[in-house]
Amino acid sequence: MGLGRSAAVSALAMTDRPELRALLDAERASTEAQIASLTRTFDDVVESIEDVGNDDEHDPDGSTIAFERAQVIALLQQARANLAALDAAIERLASGRYGVCEVCGRDIPIERLEALPTTQRCVACVEVRRSRPW
Ligand SMILES: [Zn+2]
Repeated sequence: MGLGRSAAVSALAMTDRPELRALLDAERASTEAQIASLTRTFDDVVESIEDVGNDDEHDPDGSTIAFERAQVIALLQQARANLAALDAAIERLASGRYGVCEVCGRDIPIERLEALPTTQRCVACVEVRRSRPW
């Protein structure tokens, strides 16, 4: 992109793309911030459970707090999985394996990587599997 080359960008060339590394780093930083904020929220929820006391089985707020807690846990799990995926992508980028479809071995277009930096499949292979929302 913007280099005036007509040939497809090879996966190896992607390791030299600082914008992809910057994108992954930025995503990673915001995911870490999200985890920190969710952890604080989780602590608050746990605290409010303690405030409610030991009779939470019969407290009308008990189930609401339990629901809230389950939601925060789900969000935390999601954010942690995202962080792990970003770490793996950064590792692939560093070792020159980034941007190659894990199914067919073809290069994943740069536009797709910019939109979904942790993806490991090209559009064609995702469509075959139909197991992912993208
Ligand atoms: Zn593929």
